[in-house]
Amino acid sequence: MIAGAIKHGTLSIGFIGLAEALVALTGNHHGQSIDSYELGLEIVNYMKKRVDEYAEEYDLNYTLLATPAEGLSGRFIKMDRKLFGTIPGVTDKGYYTNSFHIPVAYDISIAKKIALEGAFHRYANAGHISYVELDAPPVHNPEAVEAIIRQMAESDMGYAGINFPIDECRSCGTSGLFDDACTSCGSEDIRRVRRITGYLSTVDRFNDGKAAELKDRKSHFI
Ligand SMILES: [Zn+2]
Repeated sequence: MIAGAIKHGTLSIGFIGLAEALVALTGNHHGQSIDSYELGLEIVNYMKKRVDEYAEEYDLNYTLLATPAEGLSGRFIKMDRKLFGTIPGVTDKGYYTNSFHIPVAYDISIAKKIALEGAFHRYANAGHISYVELDAPPVHNPEAVEAIIRQMAESDMGYAGINFPIDECRSCGTSGLFDDACTSCGSEDIRRVRRITGYLSTVDRFNDGKAAELKDRKSHFI
């Protein structure tokens, strides 16, 4: 009875750090070189093929997951640093890059990031997401938001997000972006909300790996 029910569950194999793997293999990640980009697609396509084969062979729902690996992104890179030392562009930071994403500290336009990452979505049939980062809330520019969403759809993205920071003053309730103190009352009691994986969180709740990633994140330009 139970075996028959378990059969309908999903067995997902996830991956992080495609960017770092490509740097280790070629010296460039997939935002920097078209050859690395092609290799990246080949690697992810290969992983998808393997899980498809497992699904056939065992008659179970094996799928490929493009994961942010919230805990593992910090843990794996620490383990690899112990084994391989500090390798520039690979193990020289506090986290591995989310799934097939272009590294968060890399300067890239919104359009290029969407076009590059979109092609990976189809392979990650257990789940996938791409983000673009804006440097401020796009409250007065709904047309820009619509243009971004349309490009995401055209680039074959199954799931995508537009990230922007929001700060809120706990003293007077003003929201916006504050450097150190509230621009309206001067209070330094600021709640800082960011999205670094699939959901919104206040900055003080991120683990070490994700806090390091947040510090490195660059906004994407139009
Ligand atoms: Zn205030």
